[in-house]
Amino acid sequence: MYRMLAFLFAVGFGIAAAAGWPAALSAGTDGAQAQVPGWLTPYRDNAQRLISAATADQFGWDRLAELTDTYGARLTGSDNLTRAIAWAVETMKKDGLERVRTEKVMAPRWVRGQESLEIIDPPHHVIPMLGLGGSVATPPEGIEADVMVVSTMDELQRRSAEAKGRIVLFDVPYTDYGETVAYRSGGARAAARHGAVGMLLRSVGPMGLRTTHTGGMAYGDDAPKIPAAAISVEDSQRIHRMVNRGRTVRVRLKMEARFEPDVESANVIGELVGRERPDEIVLVGCHFDSWDPGTGASDDAVGCVVTWEGMRLMKKLGIQPRRTVRVVLFTNEENGLRGGTAYRDAHAAEAENHILAIESDSGVFAPARLAFSGSESARRIIADIGTLLAGIDMQSIGPGGGGADIGPIAQLGRVPMMAYSGDSMKYFTIHHTPADTVERILPAEVSKAAASLAVMTYVVAEMPERLPK
Ligand SMILES: [Zn+2]
Repeated sequence: MYRMLAFLFAVGFGIAAAAGWPAALSAGTDGAQAQVPGWLTPYRDNAQRLISAATADQFGWDRLAELTDTYGARLTGSDNLTRAIAWAVETMKKDGLERVRTEKVMAPRWVRGQESLEIIDPPHHVIPMLGLGGSVATPPEGIEADVMVVSTMDELQRRSAEAKGRIVLFDVPYTDYGETVAYRSGGARAAARHGAVGMLLRSVGPMGLRTTHTGGMAYGDDAPKIPAAAISVEDSQRIHRMVNRGRTVRVRLKMEARFEPDVESANVIGELVGRERPDEIVLVGCHFDSWDPGTGASDDAVGCVVTWEGMRLMKKLGIQPRRTVRVVLFTNEENGLRGGTAYRDAHAAEAENHILAIESDSGVFAPARLAFSGSESARRIIADIGTLLAGIDMQSIGPGGGGADIGPIAQLGRVPMMAYSGDSMKYFTIHHTPADTVERILPAEVSKAAASLAVMTYVVAEMPERLPK
């Protein structure tokens, strides 16, 4: 299984490279060191110590496996997430992080319940499905209806008269996540406006092994709320082919999905308190919740492990930077973003004193990159710091830094943002599916991310001047 995915991932890599992201410059360690600007000389030894410590073993991967094996999927409001939060607090304390604490967040609780989808004519097939996050239930006996297949919103519009009383299947080929996910978010609402009684979605992702992809969706006030679920690419195409041959495909969809009252959750915070400027904060973060298939290893347990690892390594090596470094494991990114907004509200008074905010929420699959968003003067400094990462081929800093969870505080405090992003083809192949497990991720990919984030965080927290806004 893994070899198969590794092969598919290798194909993905080829496509991503062809899509134009510049490959990192391949400078050897000796050549690269000559290019490090002089102002970074005081940081070179510690940067090298952090890189050596992060890449010496597979501590990060082992911690990722421990977290995801033990607690599994961590949907907001689940017992798994609550217990994983308690584990994170205890484990951060054992690492020697300072001021380890939780901050309460009230968050939505959506419960999937039992669900199923059967083709009942032509002859009976049960097919894999996943209700979309936020969907309503069907009646207990399910909804039985003929399927209408469309490939675009325009086609639905054009064939509007056929939608009434049907379940609309959006068999939409994947282009990129931002574009294709619009059908997951808005498909049910659009189908309901034309009189459909249910919505099915071809799973959003570049490829699958009959995997199903869940994720958030929204209803509007202009149409009834109809149940919505994803099916695999293979089953979507199969139904589409049958319909194209003139067959009527009839299905029965059963879902118990529902919202329950908001529940108490929490952001987990750990720090290395700045030795000279404790009030100035370099924030690193991730989200600790996940969707419920798989174990949320890539989205986003690994982001939490690698941001936290940088701080564990600094502590272990006795590096206490001038400014405070703060890791936040945000709750409820996937279906509410309440962790990110609660952090902004609780820390509004110190928003301006956030120097830089870094998020890792796009996996760590090779080839990974660091990205920055901020002023040109800040970008030049970050690009200089990147030269310290030449030895692990991470020196090239691209555009587009940011993250959902750090966004609210960064916007309030006009804080420059960075992201650590893995290869998107690999990331979105398993994203929000049962295949998002630790087996997909290599120990070296985790170590490289931890090393990169540790060095970047350390220098920005240590350099005498604040990173400019
Ligand atoms: Zn995520």
